[in-house]
Amino acid sequence: MNILIFGPNGSGKGTQGALLMDRYGVAHIESGAVFRQHVGSGTDLGKKAKEYMERGELVPDEITIPMILDILGKQGDKGWLLDGFPRNMEQARKLHEALTGAGMHLDYVVEILLPRETAKKRIMGRRLCANNNNHPNNIHIDAIKPAGDRCRVCGGALSARADDQNEEAINKRHDIYYDENSGTLAAAHYFKKIAAQDGKTTYIELDGSGSIDHIRATLLAQLH
Ligand code: AMP
Repeated sequence: MNILIFGPNGSGKGTQGALLMDRYGVAHIESGAVFRQHVGSGTDLGKKAKEYMERGELVPDEITIPMILDILGKQGDKGWLLDGFPRNMEQARKLHEALTGAGMHLDYVVEILLPRETAKKRIMGRRLCANNNNHPNNIHIDAIKPAGDRCRVCGGALSARADDQNEEAINKRHDIYYDENSGTLAAAHYFKKIAAQDGKTTYIELDGSGSIDHIRATLLAQLH
């Protein structure tokens, strides 16, 4: 089972992604988290990626594409959920090429739709749990408000990611996401077209403006 998930930063993509991982037992491959690990452990790749990440820009394709394709190539039979990649047309084409070359296909492509302004507000309210990346906390979303200043799920310490509080960086990230010509929406629509033609891939569009539970129910109803 191979799944792609698209959604602007702030759309609840991580939360719905966790649901898909649980259901299908697939590995979670999150490009942003892979980069953060490299930065954290000071690898050469991390040193190269850091400045782009801090500016809210994409890490160049010549670094990102081989890194992700290498990780995909090392996964077992259970498959994966790929999150945060592809972010542009070049990445989309290279991913499609690599999958086709390996005799693989995508089972699901999930796109979460959300207006840009809503996404921005949600990002600025997002808080990370020190114990678990998948514990949702957001000071601007009633349903997942933290318990005081602690994680609502486990009581762990919370922090805001520095790039979540940088409005200029958020705008840059959204410029890339909402770009339908060569950015992330272009990549999503590229796979939408493929899904319409190949008869193997189910493309699911979700309205991201509702509650987490509503989005989850809508997603579940469309999985076979
Ligand atoms: P994210 O956690 O998905 O917002 O990713 C954090 C940062 O990692 C992004 O702002 C980019 O600098 C970098 N990054 C993550 N995924 C990609 C990608 N597919 N292509 C290029 N850069 C990426």
